[in-house]
Amino acid sequence: MVVAYLDHAAATSVRPEVLEAVGPLLDTLAANPTATHAEGRAARHVLDDAREEVAELCGAIPGGVVFTGGGTEADNLAVTGVVRACGIEAPQVLVSAIEHKAVLEPAQHLARRGEAELALLGVNGEGLVDLHALAASLGPSTALVSVMTANNELGTIQPIVQIAAAIANRAPHAVLHTDAVQAAPWLDLCTAARGADLVTLSGHKLGGLKGVGALVLRRRVPLEPLIVGGAQELGLRSGTQDVLGAVSLAVALRCAVADRDHEVERVRALRRELWQRLEHDLGAQVHQTVPSAPSLPGHLHLSVLGVDAEELLVALDRAGVCASGGSSCASGALEANHVLEAIALPPTLRKGAIRLTLGRTTTAAEVEAGARAIVEVVRRLQAA
Ligand code: PLP
Repeated sequence: MVVAYLDHAAATSVRPEVLEAVGPLLDTLAANPTATHAEGRAARHVLDDAREEVAELCGAIPGGVVFTGGGTEADNLAVTGVVRACGIEAPQVLVSAIEHKAVLEPAQHLARRGEAELALLGVNGEGLVDLHALAASLGPSTALVSVMTANNELGTIQPIVQIAAAIANRAPHAVLHTDAVQAAPWLDLCTAARGADLVTLSGHKLGGLKGVGALVLRRRVPLEPLIVGGAQELGLRSGTQDVLGAVSLAVALRCAVADRDHEVERVRALRRELWQRLEHDLGAQVHQTVPSAPSLPGHLHLSVLGVDAEELLVALDRAGVCASGGSSCASGALEANHVLEAIALPPTLRKGAIRLTLGRTTTAAEVEAGARAIVEVVRRLQAA
């Protein structure tokens, strides 16, 4: 039995409004949205409405949304697509050291193949990008800068507006991409990610369906597609579109925007409550990783002293608490964590580091039960 689901950053449940919107379409939208007959046009109309809605909510150029098979694909399209289309002889890619692997790996792949020179931007102890290092690295060969709006593990929010200003000063030809997969449920991307040219979204972090994402285009940027063969999605992502996925993303985003002010306050208060309970019962045995950085309301990254994170997560799972060791994308395996290395978290804290993330369905009762279960498990493991 699940006592507390504290892994909303990995995936959050589908919103009822999404189910309401998508359910009837399962029956009625049989046609291919590229077909020219009436049924096809009806499907395309639904898809185009979803596109316009996402475009408007994210400050895109009209129609400037490429629906993809998830956040990972949108990140890959941004990184590889910009580098391959930029026309710079030896393009340089600047990427923060704490990016999701969906950004880091395509950048590393391009570097290994000699298609780009990769420079990692360092971060401070709370995960904030070093703006001086960024400014010093920008130059005529910079093709792409990719810095996430908020980090998936720590929740730290990056100063995207300042990063965009530095790029405008020193490398105005460069493209700024931001992975807003984690930020989208909580922040207004038109302000928090103002100045970014390309923005990545993912459906299942917002309460939409899994397996749908989007790359939002804020200006016309040369991009080479990763998937060719039908020229759908502005010619940037071939293949018959997932209309229901696109609708789910648009509805989920609309609902997140409508609920945002209230939800941010509510979830932030619950996170505070969770931390206070853990700190009260475990004292110096728990350590908050980024206590004072600007951060997403639902993220609580912490270290438990004297326990091993992997063991802790298994024991928490048995006690009905769903938590995570960081990125959810390594099939549950805990690998050397590049984010914790980048913020230079001491090895003693790294060993017992876990991520608890709250979300739309989190309640006060769940926080109370979750905190109690975590305390019991930690005490048991420490005693052993
Ligand atoms: N970017 C960030 C910051 C994420 O947290 C994730 C998923 O955890 C992704 C990208 C990948 O998104 P998707 O699961 O839709 O491929």
